[in-house]
Amino acid sequence: MVIVGHEPGGQLSITTEVENYPGFPEGINGPELVENMKLQAERFGAEFMWGSVSEVDLSQRPFRINIDDEWHETRTLIIASGASARWLGLPNEQKLIGHGVSSCATCDGAFYKERKIMVIGGGDTAMEEANFLARFGSEVTVVHRRSEFRASKIMLDRARANPKIKFLVNTVVEDVHDVSQSMVTGVKLRDVVTGRVWDQEVDGFFLAIGHIPNTKPFVGKIDLDPDGYIVSKGGARTNVTGVFHAGDVQDRVYRQAVTAAGAGCMAAIEVERFLEAEGH
Ligand SMILES: Cc1cc2nc3c(=O)[nH]c(=O)nc-3n(C[C@H](O)[C@H](O)[C@H](O)COP(=O)(O)OP(=O)(O)OC[C@H]3O[C@@H](n4cnc5c(N)ncnc54)[C@H](O)[C@@H]3O)c2cc1C
Repeated sequence: MVIVGHEPGGQLSITTEVENYPGFPEGINGPELVENMKLQAERFGAEFMWGSVSEVDLSQRPFRINIDDEWHETRTLIIASGASARWLGLPNEQKLIGHGVSSCATCDGAFYKERKIMVIGGGDTAMEEANFLARFGSEVTVVHRRSEFRASKIMLDRARANPKIKFLVNTVVEDVHDVSQSMVTGVKLRDVVTGRVWDQEVDGFFLAIGHIPNTKPFVGKIDLDPDGYIVSKGGARTNVTGVFHAGDVQDRVYRQAVTAAGAGCMAAIEVERFLEAEGH
């Protein structure tokens, strides 16, 4: 049984082209890839259920899972609830995801060869993404709302030494254009010190302000790290016997469809062996 949650199909369902999933030399549309995976899983007996998990009782077996106010029992559980990118909440931001707005440089950087790229954030991720994107873009502007950076000195120094990377500090983004053309053409920026507002041309707009793991129902029930990611106990195991993890909900480093799918495979094999050992 697969519980589909608030975002059926997961993060790939909100993207356009996926260029780096193996087996598709020309790339594949995200929702199409997800639909193919669903059909393949159904062919092997998976059932999909609408609803979200709000609460779990993992203190006894079978485990109890509350899905939309109804309790269900299960012998084993794979948590693959992902980690949602933080967005700025700009009026046009969500409408332009996959059309120039991105939360994943690894996924989308190659679309911006010799184009103008903007990266939002001031931490290590923002510096890493800026350095990576500078391989593709004609210029990369890092926009940060403060003058001080959270990024480590080594990451910041590397970005500062890159001639393609420029910094705009004490600056926030007010909105991103242009929904009428279904593509990013520019942003409206505001200097928080002087109050000056201006438009700047941009082709690719990358958010690097963190992710929020979707682990709210599991707080206090399994081991989570201080940011809420599941702590792995090796393989796909959590600290609770019979509860496994897969994908971005445990992985704060790679965050790719192929790594999440691989982790799903690991979890499925662990579940199969666990149930087998229990005589099911
Ligand atoms: C815009 C965008 C573009 C991307 N492009 C690429 C790309 O080109 N190539 C690539 O490799 N990767 C890409 N990624 C990253 C990739 O999508 C993720 O790494 C991958 O989807 C992670 O899979 P997952 O199954 O761990 O989590 P997710 O895809 O996040 O799926 C989590 C699922 O859990 C469900 N869920 C969450 N909470 C609950 C709950 N309480 N109860 C029930 N269900 C719940 C959600 O509804 C969702 O269906 C992109 C991501 C984004 C946001």
